[in-house]
Amino acid sequence: MSTKHSVVIVGFGGMGSYHAKLMKDNQHVEVTGTYDVLEERRKASVEAGYFSYDSYEAVLSDPSVEVVLIATPNDVHKDLAIRAFKAGKHVICEKPVTLSVSDFQEMLAAADEAGKVLMVHQNRRWDEDFLIIKQMYNEKTIGELFRIESRVHGANGIPGDWRHLEEYGGGMLLDWGVHLLDQIIFMVDSKITSLSSRLSYILGDGVDDGFEAYLQFENGVSAVIEVGTTNFITLPRWYVKGTEGTGVIEDWSLNGRVVSRNQDAVKVEPKPIQAGVGLTKTMAPPSEEATITEALPAPYRQPSSFFDNFAAVIEGSAEPIVKNEEVLRVLNIIEAVFEAGRTGESIKDFDLYPVTK
Ligand code: NAD
Repeated sequence: MSTKHSVVIVGFGGMGSYHAKLMKDNQHVEVTGTYDVLEERRKASVEAGYFSYDSYEAVLSDPSVEVVLIATPNDVHKDLAIRAFKAGKHVICEKPVTLSVSDFQEMLAAADEAGKVLMVHQNRRWDEDFLIIKQMYNEKTIGELFRIESRVHGANGIPGDWRHLEEYGGGMLLDWGVHLLDQIIFMVDSKITSLSSRLSYILGDGVDDGFEAYLQFENGVSAVIEVGTTNFITLPRWYVKGTEGTGVIEDWSLNGRVVSRNQDAVKVEPKPIQAGVGLTKTMAPPSEEATITEALPAPYRQPSSFFDNFAAVIEGSAEPIVKNEEVLRVLNIIEAVFEAGRTGESIKDFDLYPVTK
């Protein structure tokens, strides 16, 4: 008999089928079935070699199922999770865990009551680009980071069908925004003192097709978080400034560099250069000797993978890497981004920091 924890994937669409691949060779968890409301997706599951349940009730009433993994559109996460807890299952839920702070509190109460684990798949905490920046932040590779710009830019508009619709929890703030905001609070251990934002609706959908959020942290760090779906020329994935230098990660292939002040160079006054129709010393590039250009540092290492950590959490031998207090804080920040976008005012005294790291 297998000793792996049995997981049923609910919602066998894009991400649900990806999860099946992610768990394929995992030592601690295994996919023992799937369920989807659509007949064609149930067929696809069987063709991919996974048993397909005929109904969600059938998943919940099967005592051999330990874990329900929810990978449906965002609006139904809450209901599916609460029903799973009532049936005595643990839940892994896709991001965004749900659409509001109050909905998430209901989910947490149901998990607590059942004594079961709820862990949200904030997988981009494992992204190498992010872990490089986190390493630079922790190790002060270019001095104290005081400005962090984190962007994802595409030019394909909002993808798919339900992501266009508010009632399904569509829009880019709830889609990519939740990842980028989760990354920034996982890195910067400080309270957000002020937040402003601008949401974009240029594609004519009822939901945002992108946004910019400006976060000021109590420890002096300021961050720009931006998601765009109409950017035919992209800005770098990360642009960070530290007290001793600047870092950039251009893309998912991790092209990038770190440029810092050469402390040993003799200080030479820059020579004026022609710039446009004027002259400038201020904007003249520093001499080659004045700076050191280096490769990006090695990334910070997460102690374990998402699924290994989840298995250890349900066995009671580890703390979750993705903590529900952090997920709650991110949802609260998302509500603030929506509100700041709507009112055009910056928002203060809203952040749920501190949370346990
Ligand atoms: P999708 O539309 O490709 O798949 C969703 C599937 O859920 C569909 O097959 C649909 O038929 C099924 N479904 C809908 N309602 C259901 C219900 N009540 N019960 C069972 N099945 C139901 O969507 P997707 O892109 O796979 O997104 C699914 C979830 O995964 C979303 O929450 C999304 O935000 C998340 N996601 C996360 C990542 C990530 O990197 N963490 C990436 C993509 C999507």
